[in-house]
Amino acid sequence: MTMEFQVLLYYKYVNIEDPAAFMDEHRALCERIGVLGRVYVAHEGVNGTVSGTVEQTEQYMREMRQDERFADTIFKIEPSDQHAFKKLKVKVKPELVNLKLEDDVNPNQLTGKHLPPKEFYEAMQDPEVLILDARNTYEYDLGHFKNAIRPDIESFRELPDWVRENLADHKDKKILTYCTGGIRCEKFSGFLVKEGFKDVSQLEGGIVTYGYDTEVKGKLWDGKLYVFDERISVPVNRTEEANVVGKCYYCGEAEERYVKCGNPDCNKHLLLCEECEHEHKRSCSTECQEHPRNRYIKEHEMQK
Ligand SMILES: [Zn+2]
Ligand SMILES: [Zn+2]
Repeated sequence: MTMEFQVLLYYKYVNIEDPAAFMDEHRALCERIGVLGRVYVAHEGVNGTVSGTVEQTEQYMREMRQDERFADTIFKIEPSDQHAFKKLKVKVKPELVNLKLEDDVNPNQLTGKHLPPKEFYEAMQDPEVLILDARNTYEYDLGHFKNAIRPDIESFRELPDWVRENLADHKDKKILTYCTGGIRCEKFSGFLVKEGFKDVSQLEGGIVTYGYDTEVKGKLWDGKLYVFDERISVPVNRTEEANVVGKCYYCGEAEERYVKCGNPDCNKHLLLCEECEHEHKRSCSTECQEHPRNRYIKEHEMQK
């Protein structure tokens, strides 16, 4: 008999008086229940993704909701045939998402309009709208909404400057933003409103929710969704239009397989076909290929 597992993804912007104490209690709760994953705690709230059996994850949600601060938390639930994590990590962070604004935004006070999947889908049909991907390039390159703008950034905290440099003349346009589970957009869309963008909306529940919506079925999504767990990528578009947009970094062939650059100091995400992985020793450059601690070389020497 195969066990049935679930992966949960959630966030809640709510004041946490003592993040360190919350972290300790929460780690104990996770260990007692037996879920694995990653939970970040900050003064501004909690962001978590955990996996476990159906029973464990249901108990986790039940116990979380008993705390009145989390009574209305929305959990995105994905079925899985195994754990999506190998370990449990509960950690205090200065910010839930690393936007590093000089003047921080509290999404409970300032954020864009929330559009559920069907409304977001309809809003995307307007040819005048700007669809703005709030994720990093390596996430975009594996999959994204049709016609979405690809900010040239490698981490979220670069996004505000990118917007100031590239979209300053578009403040009157209708903007639609989206990210994996919605948490980055809560803050990012608030930032856009603060910058003077007049009409800002965000995809409620993120791409994960969009992909499970029984009406839109992931329509207008090309490729796959990059996720921050052992699965690495999951499908979104559940219609026949689903296609592949990922391309091998070297040869350009269709590819959806992500590896990290063999140089442990580089760690860049690379879409690589198997052939090019061997040829370039899983590296993004000659320098990384020749790095003395290149993991590819290590692994292949061990097999000899
Ligand atoms: Zn290739
Ligand atoms: Zn590299």
